[in-house]
Amino acid sequence: MVAASGLLLAAQPATTDTHRFTEVRNGIFLAQTTAPVFNSNALVIINDDDVVLVDSHVTPSKARDLIASVRTLTSNQITAVINSHHHWDHAHGNQEFTDIPIIGHEFTYEKLATAPLDEPTYTRGVVGNQARLERMQEEIADATDATEQARRQADYDLFAAHVQDFDEIAPVPPSVTMSDRMTLYRGNREIQILFLGRAHTGGDVAVYFPDDGVVFTGDMALNGPSFLGDGFVDEWPQTLENLKALDFDVFVPGHGPPVTDLSRIDVVQDYYRDLWRETETKYREGVSVEEASRTIDLTSHTGIPIRNVGVDPLTVGRIYQRLENPD
Ligand SMILES: [Zn+2]
Repeated sequence: MVAASGLLLAAQPATTDTHRFTEVRNGIFLAQTTAPVFNSNALVIINDDDVVLVDSHVTPSKARDLIASVRTLTSNQITAVINSHHHWDHAHGNQEFTDIPIIGHEFTYEKLATAPLDEPTYTRGVVGNQARLERMQEEIADATDATEQARRQADYDLFAAHVQDFDEIAPVPPSVTMSDRMTLYRGNREIQILFLGRAHTGGDVAVYFPDDGVVFTGDMALNGPSFLGDGFVDEWPQTLENLKALDFDVFVPGHGPPVTDLSRIDVVQDYYRDLWRETETKYREGVSVEEASRTIDLTSHTGIPIRNVGVDPLTVGRIYQRLENPD
């Protein structure tokens, strides 16, 4: 059982120039960058004598900001980083931590040690950055008054600097791998790193704090559906079932604020089950990815909420791929 669950957040968020820290419970902080650019959550675990991080942010630059910001919270040294999964927005700050163990699933190692900059998820991100830069340039040109134009220019400069930061990315894989579970004992704290099954990727790990009733889920469990382009939608509901078997009353997702309404997990499980079933039906009928993505109707899932008929073609393509090559 978990005590004192009435008090979700132990304190008001602390902020630095670059980060907002929200104490979830007992020295476990959600760290989020304040810049309006796409980045993932990190978890900062302040133990009696050290600090353990989960996820290293989207670029080395953002990782350095995180390290500097952690120093304002504690003088304890960061002694390990855990990768929740291999995706670029969570792991491309790894190169700032090569002097300490970086812990991840074997699958995460495989992905980050082979050709991470050729991963479709990453290359789409890079293309998306360029498209956004062009859009922002057009918006600057379209501004009707000087103040607005200056504001848009400032937004552009900030985003352009972030995109520039991608140039120094040299991905680093975990230096310590695990397959099913690993436990870190730090002072009075027990940190369980658990592979609960395939989900958002083939190697998602949950980081579980059994004494605090907290789990960091990365992108395996968000407040709603996750990006599904690398996902195992057929196995994901069972993985979430395994997650629910842990004793916790708050989870910290890879994006967004902590989630205390655990029924969100059930809502997403139901959605994934139906998504898989409906897409498999289209596949068996020989319907093309394009047509299936236009016609699959999941609008009954009002809790997500799904408002329109249709599913992202990337998702349908990924499910077709799983059906063609089940492994
Ligand atoms: Zn991800």
